[in-house]
Amino acid sequence: MLLDRLFNSGLRLVQLLLLVLVSQVFLSSSVFAATVKDVRVWRAPDHTRVVLDLSSPTSHKIMQLANPDRIVIDINNASLKADLNSLELPDSPVSRVRSAVKGKHDLRVVLDVNSKVKPRSFLLKANKQLGDRLVVDLYDKKKTSQVVKHIDDNKKRDIVIAIDAGHGGEDPGASGPNRLREKHVVLAIAKELNYLLKKEKGYKPVMIRTGDYYVGLKTRRGLARKAQADLMVSIHADAFSDPRAHGTSVYALSRRGATSAMAQALADDANNSDLVGGVSLSDKDDVLAGVLADLSMGASLDISTQLGKGVIGEMGKISRLHSRKVELANFSVLRSADVPSILVETGFISNPGEEKKLKTKAYQRKMSRAIYNGIVKHFSNSPPQDTYLAWKKRQRDKTINYVVTRGDTLSGIAKRYQVSVNSIRRENDLASSVIKVGQRIVIPSS
Ligand SMILES: [Zn+2]
Repeated sequence: MLLDRLFNSGLRLVQLLLLVLVSQVFLSSSVFAATVKDVRVWRAPDHTRVVLDLSSPTSHKIMQLANPDRIVIDINNASLKADLNSLELPDSPVSRVRSAVKGKHDLRVVLDVNSKVKPRSFLLKANKQLGDRLVVDLYDKKKTSQVVKHIDDNKKRDIVIAIDAGHGGEDPGASGPNRLREKHVVLAIAKELNYLLKKEKGYKPVMIRTGDYYVGLKTRRGLARKAQADLMVSIHADAFSDPRAHGTSVYALSRRGATSAMAQALADDANNSDLVGGVSLSDKDDVLAGVLADLSMGASLDISTQLGKGVIGEMGKISRLHSRKVELANFSVLRSADVPSILVETGFISNPGEEKKLKTKAYQRKMSRAIYNGIVKHFSNSPPQDTYLAWKKRQRDKTINYVVTRGDTLSGIAKRYQVSVNSIRRENDLASSVIKVGQRIVIPSS
C-alpha cells in the first residue's frame, strides 16, 4: 500500500508546509514570548539529541560556527527559564550549553561541541504527554569503522532470511473492494515463503511476525538485525484510488537516490522529522508514518537492488508487473540499518481481479514461490563467504571433469587425484570399476 500513500502524503506535505509558513509569519509578529522551560540531552549511538521544551511554538534559526566549534540556535520571541548549569551532558560531543539574550525579544542558545557534528533541527508539536519542543540533532561526523568479519573457510552457516509480513493487528494495511485485508494476505504469503526456505538446505528463515499483531518498524529492523539476517524481505500489497491499477513491484533502498521524486521528497522530509530518532510515531502525520513503516527496511546495499531484480524477474513470470524495474528510494531514516532489504508489493488489493487472486491459496503459493526463486537464485550465485552455500560452491568449483584416455584405470585416476575409488564410483554412480575411453568422470573434491 504505497502508491496512494505517497500521493496522499504529498498533498499532506503541501498542507503541512503551508501551515508551518503561516504559523511562522503569525508567530514572529506575536508579542507573546515563548519560554524555554527545560533542556534535555540524549546520546544515541550515532547522534546526540538536544531537546528544548517550549511553553509555546516559535520559530528558530540554526547556524554552525567554527573556532571554536559551536552550534548557535536563535529562537524568536523567547526567553530562558531552564538552568543550563545543571545540565547533564553524558558522553556527548556537547561540552557546554550557553545562552544569551539577542536583540530585544530573542534568545540565543549556544552548544559548544568538541567534535565534528552535522546539526539538524525541527519543531515538534505538543502531544498528550509533552508540550511543544525544539529538537536539535547533532549527527556524529566521524566515520563509523566497519566491522570486518573474520571469515573462516570451513564455516558453513545458514543464510538467514528475515520474512517481514507488513502491517498486522490494529493496522490492517490496504483493503480490497471485497474487504480482503492486506495484513492477512501478506502473512499467508510470508508463511508459504517460510515453509519453502525451511526445506531448502543452507537457509534459515525467520518470521518477523507470526500472527495478527502489529510490530513497530524499529522492532522489525531490530529483529532482523538480531537474527543477523542476510536479507530482509518485506511483503505488502498495493492499493490505489483507481481500481484499474494493477501489477506487482519491488522496492529497494538506495544511497544513490530515488527513482521516484515523491519518494525522495518524503525521505527528505522524514530526515528532518522526529522519526529520525525513532521516537514514537503517534504524534506524527500518520500517512507519512505509514509510508515509512511500509519501507521499514534495512541498509541500502547493492545486494538489495540485485536481489530485487532477481525477484522481479521471477514475479514477471507469474504476474503482470506494475513496474519493470526495481524502484529505489533513499530513506536516510533507514540507512543506518545493516540488513539488506527489499519490499515486495504482491499486487493491487484495490483491483477487484487481483484481490480475487490474492485471496486464493494457489496464487499465494505462486507468489511465495516467485520470491523464493529470486532469493535462492541470487544466493546460489553469490553466497556470503562463510555460508554452507559458499562452501558448496567452492566444492563445486574444485570438482574436475575428467575424460578417460587409453590406459586409464579407475584406481590410477583415484590415486592421481588423491581420492578413493569408491568416492569416484559414488559421485558418478558407477556400478563397477570398469571405465571406457572417452567416458566423462566427475572427480569429487578430496
Ligand atoms: Zn502495505
